[in-house]
Amino acid sequence: PERARQDLNAIVAEVVALTCTDLERRGVALVLELAQPAPEAVVDAIEMEQVLHNLIRNAAEATGRGGTVRIATLREQREAKLVVSDDGPGIPDEVLPKLFTPFFTTKADGMGLGLSLCASLVERVDGRIAAENAAPRGARFTVTLPLAGEAR
Ligand code: ADP
Ligand code: MG
Repeated sequence: PERARQDLNAIVAEVVALTCTDLERRGVALVLELAQPAPEAVVDAIEMEQVLHNLIRNAAEATGRGGTVRIATLREQREAKLVVSDDGPGIPDEVLPKLFTPFFTTKADGMGLGLSLCASLVERVDGRIAAENAAPRGARFTVTLPLAGEAR
């Protein structure tokens, strides 16, 4: 993997440009909440785009027509975060512990590889990924990455 200092807002913009037509076709609205200045992390841009693409796809599938997917970037102390949330049905308690297991899927035509791939790509750059249910509804996936230092 080609690791370099990357602007997470630019990664979001790249993936949004690639997926917005598909979201529109599915009748899913997209809301962006991007931190300024942009958080930066040392990652492989292509791999992070794959992670984000998988999360957006799952969120769109969960929320369906008339739903909303939110993508946020934020910085917290020494960490940069990429958050994808939706207003779908959320994740049943018995599913939560299995989400990142390869081949686990609840979809008739699912492969169950998206989230396990996301987890391995994120862990490779010393990050982590977590899933939770959000209030009042929906699921939220948070990718946490080490924030690139201020010095260049
Ligand atoms: P797939 O999308 O092929 O099923 P994934 O690894 O991407 O495989 O996701 C695994 C499972 O996690 C899904 O089948 C679904 O049950 C659950 N899941 C993933 N994202 C969401 C979400 N945004 N809301 C609710 N459940 C989700
Ligand atoms: Mg998937």
